[in-house]
Amino acid sequence: MALLSAERVRANLELVRERIERAAARAGRDPGAVEVLAAVKYIGAEDIEALAGAGVTLVGENRAQDLIEKAARAPGRLRWHFIGALQSRKVKLIVEHVELIHSVATDSALRELGRHAPEGFEILVEVNVSGEEAKAGIAPDQLDAFISRSPVKVVGLMTMPPQTGDPQRSRAHFAALAALAGERGLPTLSMGTSQDFEVAVEEGATIVRIGTILFA
Ligand SMILES: *Cc1c(COP(=O)(O)O)cnc(C)c1O
Repeated sequence: MALLSAERVRANLELVRERIERAAARAGRDPGAVEVLAAVKYIGAEDIEALAGAGVTLVGENRAQDLIEKAARAPGRLRWHFIGALQSRKVKLIVEHVELIHSVATDSALRELGRHAPEGFEILVEVNVSGEEAKAGIAPDQLDAFISRSPVKVVGLMTMPPQTGDPQRSRAHFAALAALAGERGLPTLSMGTSQDFEVAVEEGATIVRIGTILFA
């Protein structure tokens, strides 16, 4: 049984878009250059239809099996991205279902992409800009070598800063990611979640990944 109210998600999405517009205006950016990705790890496959009905167009899933199950629910109505910890043996399962993987950060994943990614497949590289030890992501000083080893085109960067109650604490991490992308001419910047997406937009995000506040 579907539990999600499409009306509620639609209203929440509207609020997120308004907040993006104000953040973009503060930064002198075009709000149309920022896409909202709905992070759907919190909802079941039975709620995917409602999400499409709420005006969501881009969705991101963290787990390969869930992605495959959910992507089958609203065929042709949603674009799917993979945003979770990427196990290399799952690469071949997901490449045919997604238009972009945000979270490539291991050489084993690059190898599997070389074997299984369709022609023209593109990825983002996850970067550990905050330097937290337990965090996934390529260290900034390893980024060029990692990109040069990629068998598929790298079109941008993604990061996941530390959890915080103060969105301003993410700003330096987002600015660092934007600088790394800018220096390399990479157009796509996936950064910002419910806790800090306005700061991410101010710092140049082109995709914000929103879960919690969409479903509240
Ligand atoms: C869950 C998740 C999000 C969304 O986070 P919220 O705080 O719920 O908005 C974004 N990115 C990744 C990689 C996630 O796993």
